[in-house]
Amino acid sequence: MLVYEAKLEGQNEQYERLDEAIRTARFVRNSCLRYWMDNRGIGRYELSAYCAVLAKEYEWADKLNSMARQASAERAWSAIARFNDNCKKGKPGKKGFPRFKKHQTHGSVEYKTTGWGLSEDRRYITFSDGFKAGTFKMWGTRDLHFYERNQIKRVRVVRRADGYYVQFCINQQRIEKREPTNSTIGLDVGLTHFYTDDKGNTTENPRHLRKSEKALKRLQRKLSRKKKGSANRTKARNKLGRKHLKVSRQRKDFAVKLARCVVKSHDLVAYEDLQVRNMVKNRHLSKSISDAAWTQFREWVEYFGKVFGVATVAVPPQYTSQNCSNCGKVVKKALSVRTHVCSHCGHTQDRDHNAARNILEIGLRTVGHTGTLNVSGDIDLCVGEATPPRKLSHGKRKSKS
Ligand SMILES: [Zn+2]
Repeated sequence: MLVYEAKLEGQNEQYERLDEAIRTARFVRNSCLRYWMDNRGIGRYELSAYCAVLAKEYEWADKLNSMARQASAERAWSAIARFNDNCKKGKPGKKGFPRFKKHQTHGSVEYKTTGWGLSEDRRYITFSDGFKAGTFKMWGTRDLHFYERNQIKRVRVVRRADGYYVQFCINQQRIEKREPTNSTIGLDVGLTHFYTDDKGNTTENPRHLRKSEKALKRLQRKLSRKKKGSANRTKARNKLGRKHLKVSRQRKDFAVKLARCVVKSHDLVAYEDLQVRNMVKNRHLSKSISDAAWTQFREWVEYFGKVFGVATVAVPPQYTSQNCSNCGKVVKKALSVRTHVCSHCGHTQDRDHNAARNILEIGLRTVGHTGTLNVSGDIDLCVGEATPPRKLSHGKRKSKS
């Protein structure tokens, strides 16, 4: 799936109608959630059927395109399914009980294949469901001309602090050719650097994130000084919202460029499988900003891994910093100890560098081994002249090519 985004330009009255559609989508999602809470044990089909009931009952719910209603029910279901899944797996700690969505600056409504149309030149989009938001000019860098109308599977309208956007989810696998580079890389996220790799190279946290972080703090303070319900407070909140948006764009830009570069120049990328949930909760703003940057970076690494055909491996974070990358023995150390000194083999190395080497090692071991000859799995390598096992038909057929 590819996602293209463009900003929508229209009249204020039109934006209000988009707002109504977004509110309704949220209403459908929340109603479905409430329905599930009152009738625990029901599944996605019951929720989907419930959409029709809502449309009959509420005039505004009927205005929303029927497939968009379904999409909202699906959103409720995915939150429920995640919760069910966590319970079934016996995940420790919070299970993520689905929550009602409140009114916020950001919000969205998702259309599928109906309820909207594109102009001949593909520069305008028209929303044609009951809210009659009408035609908007689209501002974006991408050209939709390359794609067939039926390749667009979903159209999402997103409200942000600085306006309304449309996203097109296009059904196309993105594949790019790349020559093998004969190199692998292990990445360790650190407190001092954005990451350290297994060769000891470091990449710094982007400076602009540090700067933005200060600005965010200042705007946050300003907001909290304003009287509740005042016009000045609204203004201050708006400013803060825009700044947050700017930071998130900078972060994305950084993540995309760096991830693309890392993936393109290696045949395997290994990194720690960190628990994002625990990370984001951190109270220090600077920490949470760099954590968010890291999470996004990782997502892009995995995305580009698929695009360029590069193996990406998330390894369990346990012991990566405690083990010696030279002899493999455990060397316990506190977080404040920045240098790894092995008491077994004498190996001395920067803490993060040592961890990155372990990560690469585990990554190479977990990535798996596939071959065509060994399919039966019984070949005894110790016996030189043994006759191969009989059940080789599977392997033989494959090895012909
Ligand atoms: Zn050692």
